[in-house]
Amino acid sequence: MLTMEWNEFGVAERLMRYVQIDTQSDPNSTSFPSTEKQKNLAQLLLNELKEIGLEDAEMDVNGYVMATIPGTIDINTEIATETTKLPVICFCAHIDTAPDCSGTDVKPILHKKYTGAPIVLPDDASQIITVDQYPYLKNFIGKEIITASGKTLLGSDDKAGVAILVSFASYLMNHPAIKHGPIKLLFTPDEEVGRGADFIDFKKLNADFGYTLDGGALGCFEMESFSADQLILTIDGVMAHPGSAKGVMQNAIKIAADIIAALPKAEWCPEHTEGKEGFVHPTNMEGGAEQVQIEFLIRDFDTSNLAIYEERILQIAKSVVQQNPNYDRAEVSIQVKQQYRNMREVIDQYPQMVELALSAYKKAGIVPVIEPIRGGTDGSRMSFMGLPTANIFTGMQAIHSKHEWIGVSDMQQAIQVLAYMVEIN
Ligand SMILES: [Zn+2]
Repeated sequence: MLTMEWNEFGVAERLMRYVQIDTQSDPNSTSFPSTEKQKNLAQLLLNELKEIGLEDAEMDVNGYVMATIPGTIDINTEIATETTKLPVICFCAHIDTAPDCSGTDVKPILHKKYTGAPIVLPDDASQIITVDQYPYLKNFIGKEIITASGKTLLGSDDKAGVAILVSFASYLMNHPAIKHGPIKLLFTPDEEVGRGADFIDFKKLNADFGYTLDGGALGCFEMESFSADQLILTIDGVMAHPGSAKGVMQNAIKIAADIIAALPKAEWCPEHTEGKEGFVHPTNMEGGAEQVQIEFLIRDFDTSNLAIYEERILQIAKSVVQQNPNYDRAEVSIQVKQQYRNMREVIDQYPQMVELALSAYKKAGIVPVIEPIRGGTDGSRMSFMGLPTANIFTGMQAIHSKHEWIGVSDMQQAIQVLAYMVEIN
């Protein structure tokens, strides 16, 4: 396992096959999965997992694929003496690709000895991948990388995760001398449209905690996401016939404009925050002179800050109305919808799952890079639905774009990390 050569574990070959199957999800669809074609990859995975020897592999009606890598030790006898119970770990990857960029007719290209020179993608010469734009490429000079051909994304997000997991399963099944407990594999549709966790059968999965293989650069480990609410601010004006509106009309559109103008401009918004800072972000405004609704995204790593932000928006809106005598009969109100929560709140209760991953990184000689995700993942939802879930690197870069690329050795290192995580010495 220590010498890494082309296609060791078969992970690059698998990735290149999987990306050729179009599995783009669709945010406007109301069906599940959002696109039926995702099941084409699900079906292929099902067959491959069975061929590898995972006999219980199954695809359900929603397109989720689940399988168990059987343990090579009896978890009830062999280790029951020293640990109370061996945890059942689940590894998870999503099969869909992002709606932002075409995933039809992906033509993956393996660059066997990347030279460091700009890569002009053959199907669109204006698509050029350079070290200047992606300094991380420097790590792969003389090594293998995989790109698309210029007209589509690559789809390493998250077929790299899928390829890593199938290769990992195949590796363990071919090396029964490696001692490990039962391991669950889960492949989900519709992550990119935020619905990947919707129909996971957690009972059937029956795992203690999990990891998604859906992270970027070597070493990245993610266990913290935003907590997120949506807030709708409603402004009720007072209508009158414009011909006889003097002293009567209080126009909700004008009030809305004043409220937006009263929001902080150089702080508290996405364009002026980074790292651990939260923000509020107006995303949509709809209505007319009688009523206007403004939608906001509310984000922070500390869940308790969300309510503070929401109250602050309400107070800004109220003071705009109260300070202007022309708005004295207008009304403002807010409605808050919970979106997702910082998975760290759950993961902090399971320190062993962080310890397990980070000690495996160390054994593999990889320095962990732990950074909060300024967004949400399926892991944040899964963590609150009963499966604490952190995120492990795959190597994927420039995702959701025609420049998307991945270094083969990063995927191989991810497999090595997984092997160290499950191995019982
Ligand atoms: Zn992803």
